[in-house]
Amino acid sequence: MNKKKLISFDLDCTLIDPTYNTFVWEIGIPQLYAKKYQVSLSEAASSVISEYQRVGDGAIEWYDIAYWFRFFELPGSWQDLMEEHRDKVRLFPEVKAVMEDLAPSYHLIIISNAAREFVEIETKETEIANYFVRTFSTTSDFGQVKKTPECYEEILGIMGTKPSNAIHVGDHYEFDYLIPKQLGIEAYYLDRDGKKPEDQYAVKDLKHFAIRIKNPLTSI
Ligand SMILES: [Mg+2]
Repeated sequence: MNKKKLISFDLDCTLIDPTYNTFVWEIGIPQLYAKKYQVSLSEAASSVISEYQRVGDGAIEWYDIAYWFRFFELPGSWQDLMEEHRDKVRLFPEVKAVMEDLAPSYHLIIISNAAREFVEIETKETEIANYFVRTFSTTSDFGQVKKTPECYEEILGIMGTKPSNAIHVGDHYEFDYLIPKQLGIEAYYLDRDGKKPEDQYAVKDLKHFAIRIKNPLTSI
C-alpha cells in the first residue's frame, strides 16, 4: 500500500494567475465579436459577458470555448485564439518552489474544471506538467462541472486513494472547499485576496498551504 498522501490542486487562480483566461475570455472573444457584429469593443464585451453570466459556471457550456465560438458565430478558430495569447500564461510566484518542496513526499494531481485544451496549454507553457502524476479536467473527462461530489469520488477511485488520505486546495469556496470537505477530504480554501474571514482551513498562498499541511494544528 502506498502511504504517500494525495494532494489535488485546482488550476486556474490557484497555480495559474488569471491573466491568460482574462485575455482569452474577456478580451479575445469580445474582439472577435466586435469585428463580426461591427460594434465597439466595450459593447461587445458587455454583450459577451452578459451571455456568459446567463449561462453561468454551473453549466458545462460555460467552460467550452468551441461552444462560444459557435454560439456567437465568431470568425476564425478558437485554437488560434488560445495560441495567440499563450505567452500570457503565468504561474503565481510561489508555485514552482512549493511544487519542488511537495513533489517528493506526496502524489500531486490537478483537478480543474477548465476544459482539457486549457489545462494542456497552461501546464505546458509553465513547464509544471512533470510535477503531477495526473491531470483531470472534470468538464472534458467526466462531462461534469467540478461542484459534484461524484467527480471527487471518481477521481479518488481512479487514484486508489481514500478521502482520509487526500488533501485538496483551490480558490473556489464551494467547488474547492465545501464539497471536498463534505467528503472527508482535508480541504483548504485558497484566499489570496483575503475575501473570507480567518479560518483554520483558509490559506493566503500555496507557501502558507504547504506549511499548514505539514503542521496541521499550528496557527500561522
Ligand atoms: Mg480556480
